[in-house]
Amino acid sequence: MKIAIEELASCSGCTIAILDLHEALLDILGKAEIVYAPVIMDVKEPPEGIDIAFVTGAVRNEENQERLRKIRKRAKTVVALGTCACYGGISGLSMLFNREDLFNYVFRGVETVKPDGVIPTDVPPFLYRAFAVGDLVKVDYYITGCPPKEMYLKKILPALVSGEPLALSKKSVCSECDRIMGAHENWQLRRRHEGIPDREHCLLGQGYLCLGAVTFGRCGASCPHSNVPCHGCNGPSLDILREPCRDIYNMMIRRIADLTDKPEAEIEKGIYDIAHTFYPFTIGSLIMEDKGISKIRDLIKERNI
Ligand code: SF4
Ligand code: SF4
Ligand code: SF4
Repeated sequence: MKIAIEELASCSGCTIAILDLHEALLDILGKAEIVYAPVIMDVKEPPEGIDIAFVTGAVRNEENQERLRKIRKRAKTVVALGTCACYGGISGLSMLFNREDLFNYVFRGVETVKPDGVIPTDVPPFLYRAFAVGDLVKVDYYITGCPPKEMYLKKILPALVSGEPLALSKKSVCSECDRIMGAHENWQLRRRHEGIPDREHCLLGQGYLCLGAVTFGRCGASCPHSNVPCHGCNGPSLDILREPCRDIYNMMIRRIADLTDKPEAEIEKGIYDIAHTFYPFTIGSLIMEDKGISKIRDLIKERNI
């Protein structure tokens, strides 16, 4: 069994998540050989005859696109690993800025850049937008998470390598969260720095924008467990994906309206920074953008590519 791990527009965190499996990885390596993984080994090109290719990262430039097409041709099974690969992830947020502003910031605006401030000319050309892997090639399996969580990778990777079926929860983060709904008569929207939530009651009920209800689980609700609202890093819940009339933004507004008996329009007035609040991990996904009710198209148009 030959395994490859390809990196596109990624932070390499998903590959590191595989390495972080520690002893569990040794069991997998007893049955499979990693033949290509640019982050951890010096092999320049993916070989032919790959059995499973894990692809991490979004597709943001021509090089990403070429690498993706090549690995798809050379692998029997392609797995989109991590939320960047599944839904565009953080790289998709680049669509909120134009190319010039991005390059100025990256090569001149960050303190650690070369002092001459020269923008290199050999950077692969940007595509007109970011894409998720499944927007461009056939994907056989999706493993979401930024990065995917160890407790699930430990189960999923051996099952993939052995070809054995595996039944895992497909529910939302809320279904994994043990907080209870408290009183919310005086509900008001709060930003994360505006107070310290209590540890017993639902964060949304306390006014914090917790996206647990619209986010795919398999993280053990780790953020609410640490008293931090879910910001959606596992990508959309299956409800959101399957139903054309459900989108992250509209379902959250509806949920708050049901919870508080306030009109949706009133709730929307208090909402700030829709892109970073509701779509930080999905703005680069065509599937999510193509939902007629999604705000993504407006956000991209507003800021322009
Ligand atoms: S999903 Fe998260 S951890 Fe994985 S490559 Fe993208 S940003 Fe990095
Ligand atoms: S909204 Fe957040 S805090 Fe409330 S139940 Fe869902 S995951 Fe837990
Ligand atoms: S709670 Fe939400 S943001 Fe936190 S790890 Fe889970 S899906 Fe990601």
